[in-house]
Amino acid sequence: MKSLAILGAGPKAVAVQAKAHALRRLGLPSPDITVIDYQGIGGNWRSGGGWTDGRHQLGTSPTKDVGFPYRTRIAAAADTDPLNRAVDRELMSVSWPAFLVATDRYAAWVDRGHPAPRHYLWADYLRWAAVNTGMDLVNGQVTRIGLRNARRTGRRDADGWSLSVDLADGSTTRITADALLVTGPGRSDRRIAPLPTVMSVSGFWSAVGSGSLPAASRVAVIGGGETAASVTDEIIRHTVVDISVISPTATIFSRGEGVFENEIYTDPRKWVELDEDARRDVIARCDRGVFSGRVQTSLMAEDRVSHLRGRVLSVNDHHGSAAVHVARSLPGGQVAEHTEIFDLVIDARGNSPLWFTRMMDDRVVASLISACGGPVTTAAVEDRITPDLSLGGMRPTLFLPALAGFRQGPGFANLSCLGELSDRVLAGLGVSPAQPPAAGPAQPPAAGGVPTDLSTGTFPSSERITQ
Ligand SMILES: Cc1cc2nc3c(=O)[nH]c(=O)nc-3n(C[C@H](O)[C@H](O)[C@H](O)COP(=O)(O)OP(=O)(O)OC[C@H]3O[C@@H](n4cnc5c(N)ncnc54)[C@H](O)[C@@H]3O)c2cc1C
Repeated sequence: MKSLAILGAGPKAVAVQAKAHALRRLGLPSPDITVIDYQGIGGNWRSGGGWTDGRHQLGTSPTKDVGFPYRTRIAAAADTDPLNRAVDRELMSVSWPAFLVATDRYAAWVDRGHPAPRHYLWADYLRWAAVNTGMDLVNGQVTRIGLRNARRTGRRDADGWSLSVDLADGSTTRITADALLVTGPGRSDRRIAPLPTVMSVSGFWSAVGSGSLPAASRVAVIGGGETAASVTDEIIRHTVVDISVISPTATIFSRGEGVFENEIYTDPRKWVELDEDARRDVIARCDRGVFSGRVQTSLMAEDRVSHLRGRVLSVNDHHGSAAVHVARSLPGGQVAEHTEIFDLVIDARGNSPLWFTRMMDDRVVASLISACGGPVTTAAVEDRITPDLSLGGMRPTLFLPALAGFRQGPGFANLSCLGELSDRVLAGLGVSPAQPPAAGPAQPPAAGGVPTDLSTGTFPSSERITQ
């Protein structure tokens, strides 16, 4: 079975760790997992992590926790096999309700109508689950992603990953593993212009946390996704006269939370039956450039917030203010450009989905180019994500769930189906269904359990992952 290094100790890392731990507790084979994060566990959900001040509420229900939807299928061949349910029962011991019970918050949470927790409490939950499942955490920052040379051949064939890690004590170490899982959105310090009037997302949350957000009467928020939504949700709590949210879409759409939309996020098995136009339609309606229903509700009462349609081309200094140059597409292929003046601009476009490639050395980039059959673009990578959430054709194995939305299901990029995500990743590492146990306690799977065909990214056992 392959070993795994996980870059980032957020919900995805905790989900994979929790399921690996559950398998081990049942006596089933389970991979060695090392998680690397310079912020500890759940750092992006706390103040100082660059994406929030920790006080905002989770957009999705916390019951979509690290085991959700509790439909493990990798422990035994039949979906309904008691061994699969036994793994789910183990996972329930690190569920959101179990955390609330363990920290004496459960009754109050029920009495208050199951509210979404603030981000810092979600991070506390993640840390609790990681500690209770024995996560092997390296407190450090991955600075370089390289390849591990095969030991036996003596040639420069790569048989795994080699990560350079700057440790908290100032020293550097190297971590190797057979497979790598990249999580999270990367850094949040991107700014469209290096001006005092332009803030990155991390600069914004840092100023909010320290109470030093500059006074401004006209504020522009660039971006139409959840990052822009949480920034806007914060700005309305400050003394600001006018807030423009600038994005290229016709308006700011709402993220649907109806049962039918939720089903697609929870159970990605239905996703692969959709044709490509239908998938794009769902992603456009529910995923990209949408604000959550909760943020939309709080903006309903705000006549200070408006949407400015267009793409920001540049921001320049204008007598101490920010001149925002916007291009807007018009009928007949025309483009109209104009400039608006703001006191403060927050660049909330988020990071490039391929942010992690900046850390990759030349050999890794060459492997990526080969896997993508040409230039490494977001679309090329998204198009090649296999059912185990790895990049098809890439050696060594590289899991990229954040880019799995289009091919495998929109829930893999977020918190919608972390228990399904862990099934897929562990299957990609070689965890395979055990033979049905004769009787009594769970037995380790017999040699020759149904293998995962990683060369094609398909799962020979149709019961394991139904496509
Ligand atoms: C403000 C905000 C609110 C959101 N709310 C929701 C929500 O309610 N529901 C939902 O489904 N999705 C939400 N999302 C989307 C969210 O990004 C993902 O769902 C979630 O972060 C995925 O978790 P993760 O485990 O991939 O990464 P994260 O929790 O983002 O963790 C990534 C980790 O990687 C670490 N890291 C980064 N670079 C390095 C490096 N070089 N070396 C070592 N460690 C590194 C970071 O420190 C971080 O801890 C939200 C996103 C944001 C920004």
